[in-house]
Amino acid sequence: MNAPYAQRGDAVAAAPRVAFLDVRAGYLELRREIDAAIATVLESGWYVGGQAVEDFESAWAQYCGCAHALGVGNGLDALSLALQAVGVGPGDEVLVPSHTFIATWLGVTHIGAHPVPIEPIADGFHLDTARIEAAITPRTRAIVPVHLYGQPADLDPIVSIARRHGLKVVEDAAQAHGARYKGRRIGAHGDAVAWSFYPGKNLGAFGDAGAVTTDCAQTASRIAMLRNYGSSQRYVHEVIGRNSRLDPIQAAVLSVKLRHLDAWNARRQAVAARYLRALRDLDLGLPDTPAWADSVWHLFVVTHRQRDALAGALAAAGVQTLVHYPIPPHLQAAYGGGTLPEQPLARSLAQQVLSLPMGPHLDETQQDYVIDRVVRALRGTV
Ligand SMILES: *Cc1c(COP(=O)(O)O)cnc(C)c1O
Repeated sequence: MNAPYAQRGDAVAAAPRVAFLDVRAGYLELRREIDAAIATVLESGWYVGGQAVEDFESAWAQYCGCAHALGVGNGLDALSLALQAVGVGPGDEVLVPSHTFIATWLGVTHIGAHPVPIEPIADGFHLDTARIEAAITPRTRAIVPVHLYGQPADLDPIVSIARRHGLKVVEDAAQAHGARYKGRRIGAHGDAVAWSFYPGKNLGAFGDAGAVTTDCAQTASRIAMLRNYGSSQRYVHEVIGRNSRLDPIQAAVLSVKLRHLDAWNARRQAVAARYLRALRDLDLGLPDTPAWADSVWHLFVVTHRQRDALAGALAAAGVQTLVHYPIPPHLQAAYGGGTLPEQPLARSLAQQVLSLPMGPHLDETQQDYVIDRVVRALRGTV
């Protein structure tokens, strides 16, 4: 059992009948290719940077349909480096969704800027583009749309508002590898795009890893410098940089898994289609599927007013579910524990969202069991 964001102590729980996500199955399916790729790196004698990293960077840029991909240490660094590279700095304001994983906010805070939350659309999970302009102040420098749960945000209005107000757009694509907006893959609609390859993501390494993609040569060279001690020439340091590099062993793994990404996303899409068909006439909120979005279903998130009771019934039946996310960023102790302005829609979503088992290795028998147990729970006790 390998749930995303596992915490110390999780492993002691009894193995569920249907796990939320089986990341080990991804290794077992590709074992020979992955073992060979790792061995090649170990034998090369290059353990930071080198051919494996460059090969993955060019493969990822090509896949995303953009000019540049820069490997970095993880998705959070990808966000803060991308923001820094497009010119966001201390004291600036950055518009972020109120309903997102906290890393979206942390990427802003890490470079001394301030996250300003935008509430989601009613009956949806993505930031409400109609609320953006009212939140812009003279200090606003950027917008960070999040392609949450694998579904692209509505990018056209976001990019056009940003252009009108001279703002940058940095996309948080940590959950959207391979997703398309109006037919075009996520990768360079905005000024820069931040990726995470955390093991549980659609394209996941066997450890931490991340990247930034962009069409802008200047942004790319700034990130190349910032991720490497602020240096583009050895022992010459132009800015205060950091050490945040893509590990070559992880890069080699990612190059192998990238060849299977579309096939694995297609399996996720088949799982989602079966859920959408089987769960449609119940007292359960289902994810919307706008015509312009080709989601890659990082998560399959339903909503229910008595979410905890539903999750409890499923847990008792051996179905592991998770909540993404139980406490919105603005209510976290890290952000003042409720001293920021209230975000009622984000608060209410946090009480209602429930992520059902989803992944490329969830088979139909397992899924039928989940569906059966959800239906029973909704017709019975909940
Ligand atoms: C996973 C994730 C991140 C952070 O990525 P890490 O590699 O874990 O640092 C950022 N934003 C979102 C939406 C994520 O899901």
